[in-house]
Amino acid sequence: MAIRSAPSLNLLTAAIVLPLLLLVILAVAGIRAQTKAARETLAEEADREAKVAANFLKAEYETKLVSFPRFPDPPAPGESSADDAVLDGQDVPALISLRDKKDAGNSPAGLPRRALAALRLLDLAPEAQQASEVADLVTMECPSVLTEIALGKLGSESRLSKEWRNLGNARRLLEKHPAGGWIEEDGQGWWVKSTDDKFEFISPERNREALGKLESLINPLFSIHVSTRTIPPRSAEAPLLFGTAPLEWGQGLRVEALLKSREAFLGGIRRQELWTFSLLAIAVGISAAGLFFIRRTLLRERKLNEMKSQFVASVSHELRAPVASIRLMADALEEDKLAPETAKEFHRLIAREGARLSTLVGNVLDHARIEQGRRIWKKEPCDLAALVADTVRVMEPLAKEKGITLSSTLLPVEATVDSGAIQQALVNLLDNAIKFSPAGSGIGISLSIHDESRNWELRVRDEGVGIPKNEQVRIFERFYRPGDELRRETQGTGIGLSLVKAIAEAHGGAVLVESEPGKGSTFILRIPISS
Ligand code: ADP
Repeated sequence: MAIRSAPSLNLLTAAIVLPLLLLVILAVAGIRAQTKAARETLAEEADREAKVAANFLKAEYETKLVSFPRFPDPPAPGESSADDAVLDGQDVPALISLRDKKDAGNSPAGLPRRALAALRLLDLAPEAQQASEVADLVTMECPSVLTEIALGKLGSESRLSKEWRNLGNARRLLEKHPAGGWIEEDGQGWWVKSTDDKFEFISPERNREALGKLESLINPLFSIHVSTRTIPPRSAEAPLLFGTAPLEWGQGLRVEALLKSREAFLGGIRRQELWTFSLLAIAVGISAAGLFFIRRTLLRERKLNEMKSQFVASVSHELRAPVASIRLMADALEEDKLAPETAKEFHRLIAREGARLSTLVGNVLDHARIEQGRRIWKKEPCDLAALVADTVRVMEPLAKEKGITLSSTLLPVEATVDSGAIQQALVNLLDNAIKFSPAGSGIGISLSIHDESRNWELRVRDEGVGIPKNEQVRIFERFYRPGDELRRETQGTGIGLSLVKAIAEAHGGAVLVESEPGKGSTFILRIPISS
């Protein structure tokens, strides 16, 4: 029979592996698309946040911009006026109005009259003005000369007096960068600018203050960074940068929205990946296991088919050979020309071949009946010793022909059995023992009680070829015959021992083998007494 299961096996493997592969590819593409979509959503959100931050910062910087007028240093002398007399007098209201006079101008000494009036008032009527107001006034009116003296004298902190200290740094930066704008120094960001008549700047503290206020406005997922970079870095260099917006304050300034932690973004995707790949792994595992079992079943099926074909071939051969020799001998006998001894021998041979045929046909029929569940076991109390002795006697001529001696040790055993089946099992065991033993060897048959009278045991021990360990389980499988067809020298069909096993099991017992290659084998039939 031609076995064509190999292509179907490959087809089956492909039918399982290909969809799995497709599933894996789709899952990977799905995860990628998901990551991309999540990244895009995040980038949109980040752009929005950056824009909010940029607008907020612009408004904040407008309020935080500090400006100081530029004065020649030292200041240019002014024209003398009546106001100079006020400065020398003690007229408090006149001093107050001079202090508040926007166009009071400089004294001939080059010092602003308003500042001088404020300082004078500080001595004459300190209650007439706030120290911080004086400080602001002096700082604004005469930032170069009087401010240091006045601030030292007042010991007061005003908004401008604080910025006055920063003015030095702003000036220094402007010397280095005359064009001004956003300047980063020592990790601190300054905004500085100078025109003919004033200095303007935002100090790093004020910048930080503005950024600090921003924090509460922005999605906590992001941190905001003001950058002077003109070209946004690529995501590989700044993997956390997700959004930017121009900051319309100074030139080339951008607000960047950076993700605070990569985990916040990747955590969800990783969990998703973990789930998807776990499910895939389970699917792959289940499919692989399924494939393995299906393949194994198919291979077994294939093997069984092969064995069945061999069985059919063996049975045909086993039937043809004795039938042919019986016919030849019967024809010769019919012609009646044979010598009496030869005729006798032919009768004996016909009887032997007939017995062989009957055993074979019995085995095949029984095998078929057992397979189809049609075999009816007729169990009756039986004198086993007598049954075994009879069977041995039947097999004796076959053994004798090969020069093999059969010796029995039979203890009396009464048991409930299907005597025909037990006889068939013993015939098969003896047939094998004779078949696989060399001429001149012996076969021992023993019957005894085992396991405190619970089982009876029939042993058939030969001194034949023996059976390798790895074959010992398989020989009981139906159609199994070790070695390949060409190497087999002995006749057989491969169903003898499987029948013995079926018979033993039908009686609630078992058949065992003890064997060593080259030293012989012992087959043991162990069956409960009342099966
Ligand atoms: P068959 O004898 O028709 O091949 P069996 O089922 O009776 O089929 O036996 C299966 C195989 O077990 C035999 O082919 C043989 O290889 C092995 N075997 C059985 N009995 C013996 C034995 N007594 N000694 C050695 N090998 C044996």
